Amino acid sequence: MLKDLKTLEAWFVTGSQHLYGEATLKQVNHDSREIAAALDRSSEIPVKIVFKPVLTTPEAILAICREANNAENCIGLITWMHTFSPAGMWIGGLKSLSKPFMHLHTQFNRDIPWDSIDMDFMNLNQSAHGGREFGFIGSRLRIERKVVVGHWSTVEVQRKTGVWLRAAAAWHDWQGGKVARFGDNMREVAVTEGNKISAQIQFGYSVSGYGVGDLAARVNEVSDSEIHDLIQLYEADYQVPSEAKEGGSLRDSLKEAARIEMGMRSFLEEGGFFAFTTTFEDLHGLKQLPGLAVQRLMADGYGFGAEGDWKTAALVWAMKVMALGLEGGTSFMEDYTYHLHPDGMKVLGAHMLEVCPSISTGKAGLEVHPLGIGGKADPARLVFEVASGPGVNASLMDMGNRFRMLVNPCEVVPADAPLPNLPVARVVWQPAPNLEVAAGAWILAGGAHHTGFSMAVTAEHLEDFSEIAGIEYLLIDDNTVISSFKKELRWNDLYYHLAKGI
Ligand code: MN
Repeated sequence: MLKDLKTLEAWFVTGSQHLYGEATLKQVNHDSREIAAALDRSSEIPVKIVFKPVLTTPEAILAICREANNAENCIGLITWMHTFSPAGMWIGGLKSLSKPFMHLHTQFNRDIPWDSIDMDFMNLNQSAHGGREFGFIGSRLRIERKVVVGHWSTVEVQRKTGVWLRAAAAWHDWQGGKVARFGDNMREVAVTEGNKISAQIQFGYSVSGYGVGDLAARVNEVSDSEIHDLIQLYEADYQVPSEAKEGGSLRDSLKEAARIEMGMRSFLEEGGFFAFTTTFEDLHGLKQLPGLAVQRLMADGYGFGAEGDWKTAALVWAMKVMALGLEGGTSFMEDYTYHLHPDGMKVLGAHMLEVCPSISTGKAGLEVHPLGIGGKADPARLVFEVASGPGVNASLMDMGNRFRMLVNPCEVVPADAPLPNLPVARVVWQPAPNLEVAAGAWILAGGAHHTGFSMAVTAEHLEDFSEIAGIEYLLIDDNTVISSFKKELRWNDLYYHLAKGI
């Protein structure tokens, strides 16, 4: 499980050529090293930035791309054209590059020295046209990449670079990653399904199914002393009602929840899984639907999707990687119910049990209540509220011929009044631009009821991630107009159909 993005690195790669002579190239190398060091020091940059010597030949470019492909901790390249680097030299390298790259369109010198500028200055500071030459070949090769423009010393340039690096880190973690599915899809739910082989080809992770009995067997191996130790942790971290304390009427339910958590955790750790799904249709051998266990595993960084939803499980996993070290949590979420009052329509997001306490404000309550569906014993769950602030919902659908990422920023707001009878964690938000347009566009785009919800990740992270993944990205925000959005959907259908042949 990835816990620290500083264990990953991105390579800072500079393009030039031999036209300028040795003295100039020495200067280019020096300048480039300085930018790489500044990025590496920046608090906006989540990974290590590794300087690579300036590239001046097709052979050197191909070699560095091949080296990057095979470097285990390299998540991608930040490319910069200090001077004019003829892009024909880049064709072989970029064609072979299997890691993502972004184009930093900057110039070492920030200002034009108006009173002293001469041709030597002009020849040393040529990113304006060098970057365009490089841009052409990226577009000519139809490679999706992020272009960040501005002076490298500014917070905004470093922030945008950092956002892309977080997306690249999540992508890196997906490659060869594994999702465990306890049970299959549920009933006849459509949007949670998809082509797992297409996903493995497109995204790099695999999805493996397990009978719930396999999990139940592991749960039954958990010892009483392990359960005892885990409950000590619960009592330290959460508000535990007296009925769930030792000797209380709900104590056995809590012990069962701890048993499920231990069993599930060891199953996932042993199998090297980073995300998982459950289903309440098939709980053979489990006494409760896993609620508390799922919540606590999510808080530790696991992706999760309910009802067999492996796409959302993988998405939550990726969003948790993007969010590492940032303020604000990330959770599996569902648009559950609406407040359609004309003075302020909003959404209440929740799930039956499985909301991640990383988004909780204050100490969560550990409660045991009956569950109307599933036909099992009363499950334990953490109940909490979420503090106000900006958030985002994202959804990933299999459209048959492609995957679609749908993203909608929102503002988390307080509930209008306390919710004393609601026994699950909940979030109330107003989607951008408003519920009428947001829900309308979401429905037209075929957006799922399950989402990855985050108060750390932004739409920009998800856009960068979608581009790296090579999938469709749709944004519903303050600029969305339904009639234009409908056209975007139609045009995208055509584009993604034709793009296979371009
Ligand atoms: Mn659900």
